[in-house]
Amino acid sequence: MIQNYQDAMTICKWAGYPDLFITFTCNPKWPEIVRFVEERGLKSEDRLDIICRVFKMKLDALIQDLRKNKIFGSVKAYIYYRVSKRGATRSHSFFLYKEDKFPTADAIDHVISAEIPDEQVDPVYHAAITDFMIHGPCGDDRRNSPCMVDGRCSKYFPKRFTERTIVDEDGYPIYRRRDNGRTIKKNGVHLDNRYVVPHNRYLLIRYGAHLNIEWCNQSRAIKYLFKYLNKGNDRVTASFYHSSSEDNMEKSVDEVNLYYDCRYISSCEDAWRILGFEIQYRDLAVERLSFHLPNQHNVIFSDAEID
Ligand SMILES: [Zn+2]
Repeated sequence: MIQNYQDAMTICKWAGYPDLFITFTCNPKWPEIVRFVEERGLKSEDRLDIICRVFKMKLDALIQDLRKNKIFGSVKAYIYYRVSKRGATRSHSFFLYKEDKFPTADAIDHVISAEIPDEQVDPVYHAAITDFMIHGPCGDDRRNSPCMVDGRCSKYFPKRFTERTIVDEDGYPIYRRRDNGRTIKKNGVHLDNRYVVPHNRYLLIRYGAHLNIEWCNQSRAIKYLFKYLNKGNDRVTASFYHSSSEDNMEKSVDEVNLYYDCRYISSCEDAWRILGFEIQYRDLAVERLSFHLPNQHNVIFSDAEID
């Protein structure tokens, strides 16, 4: 992980701050997956290998779109990481370094949107937003939402209404979210523009998955980079205990508590690794130069030379 971090820093040194932060999440309901599993009377979670393969194909296509088809302009470099949260979400996060920077609000509006479209004018877009890009409900409407930490939404939703996109004094973008009365109903709650996750219309419709695009705040981006690279493996604390059901008999229950801090690899993580797909990837290549102390250089023998 330290080595990967050093590689990322080397790219930053050469390419400058990253410009876009993209999170692409796998959708187990993609028609390619559903078609395959339904024919066999299975559910998508029964065939994690198929999910992983399809996701990898879409991921490669997305990289193609960004890199070769230049949908956001010329790309200098990118780094991506596999992100998994308790194995439930399979997603990849990209840091994209562009050739031409776009620090103006107009330029941001051109690639990133955070509003609900008109259902009559653009029904396909509207359906994609409904399926993938509405956060919540959380807060008072749903206190047990997974995003809730200490009684607050950890992703800071709802955002506030803004007439136009601005970049605040800290360089942090506030996307346009007009108070136009448009809402989308989710779990019985009407959610407005304040709950839309920033995205790009073209990519959202093309990939049919949760695809979050954020313009990077220059200094905070580095902090994120650091955070992602140092996140480490998923861990789980497992506890085994035996307790007496007749707890009124005695206060001291015969109880054994063993806590283990275990490394945890979920089944989808597992499939991804077995198929040999990259957990982290970067383009620009970074060459790691090895050096050694005097008289302690490495010597490599091939199998044929050892007898
Ligand atoms: Zn929330």
